[in-house]
Amino acid sequence: MTERLCLVHYHEIGLKGKNRSTFENQLVTNLHRALSAFDVTNIARISGYVIVETADRAASEELAAAIRRVPGVARVSLAYRCGLDESEYVAAAIRALGEAGDFASFKVHARRSSTTYERHTLEMNQLVGSALCEAFPDKKVDVHHPDVTVVVHVVQGSTYVYAASAPGVGGLPVGTAGKVVTLLSSGFDSPVATWMVGRRGAICVPVHFSGRPMTADTSEWLCQDIVDALAPSGVVGRLYVVPFGERQREISLAVPQSLRIIMYRRVMLQVSERIARLEGAKALVTGESLGQVASQTLENIAAVNEAVTMPVLRPLIGSDKQEIIRRAEQIGTAEISSQTAPDCCTLFMPRRPETHARMEQVLEAWESFDHEAMVESLVDAVEWRDFPQCPSYHAPRGRLREHHRELAPWGGGER
Ligand code: ATP
Ligand code: MG
Repeated sequence: MTERLCLVHYHEIGLKGKNRSTFENQLVTNLHRALSAFDVTNIARISGYVIVETADRAASEELAAAIRRVPGVARVSLAYRCGLDESEYVAAAIRALGEAGDFASFKVHARRSSTTYERHTLEMNQLVGSALCEAFPDKKVDVHHPDVTVVVHVVQGSTYVYAASAPGVGGLPVGTAGKVVTLLSSGFDSPVATWMVGRRGAICVPVHFSGRPMTADTSEWLCQDIVDALAPSGVVGRLYVVPFGERQREISLAVPQSLRIIMYRRVMLQVSERIARLEGAKALVTGESLGQVASQTLENIAAVNEAVTMPVLRPLIGSDKQEIIRRAEQIGTAEISSQTAPDCCTLFMPRRPETHARMEQVLEAWESFDHEAMVESLVDAVEWRDFPQCPSYHAPRGRLREHHRELAPWGGGER
């Protein structure tokens, strides 16, 4: 009997030497969580792949698409699985090639992971190849640069047959690179920055600073929608929201107008660093891109960075806006980010922000208000929402749990 299942390829994990099984196990765990809406009965490692089987033994393109979004997945093939009987795998190869779309040339690549199977791969290549030539008389065999390769792989008592595979997002399974706190606004950049570090295996904990109570909570809703859009990839464990409006007003009254943004950002970074320590996260992440706006000059980046000791990762520092927007479209956040909402960044904006801040002036302004008490009170006011799609996320115990209000249903505001 021939069944249909998904074969997941993950070449980058293969590079990890003796950590390989940790990576593979994490990928299997993450796939279980990401595919909970499907009737999946088995996810298992076999001979360099992960296979995903469904109850109806007829895996769909929809299932393959969900798998492709999971970090660590290099490619996904909808494969046929049959027994070792050659008539079965020849028939499966004909079906697989028939579904491969437009092509002019093909080759067969037989593999054997069970040495007990008596046929040699050369013999299998010939057998399947000649059957395919007969079934597709107008197609050419090209062993060097074929348009399509039909793989016939014998593993234990089964044969896996596939011709086409579609690329996944690549990267590494979430949970293999520790945890980061990402500064998330509802703009285009920071959702992409979050996704990028998530794709490299980091568990992401975004923190959003809203202008509440001086603005509506629209930006919080947009951030929630952004995290919902990222959730199927399993990169986000929890979203924190910090109502920052009142404190921004205090800062705007205390410091020179041109330095306001730098002060807001320093406070934001310090609050994020505090949350990161409570979370056990090892780095902060922002969506900055060099020179994109006034606050993203080297001087201003340095002036803000000076407020924290934890590494600040800026995965988009060398990206152009168009590249970022294209990526945002791929990950499903672009449409949400194209809606504008006042957040803490649009509140109390100076007319002429400093573009080349001098450190002594920055530090002088910094000392002109009680930033320590401010950071403390902001950390105390955080709200959050958890995202179960990230199986490796563990919430911090202790302080946060006891004192902080869970967003229920979300920020308490009307949508
Ligand atoms: P984005 O598209 O991510 O909003 P931007 O182009 O608007 O970025 P800035 O406003 O200078 O640029 O923000 C730079 C970075 O600071 C953002 O990418 C984000 O990481 C962080 N940031 C900005 N505003 C907020 C906010 N309200 N809450 C949390 N982080 C923020
Ligand atoms: Mg922004």
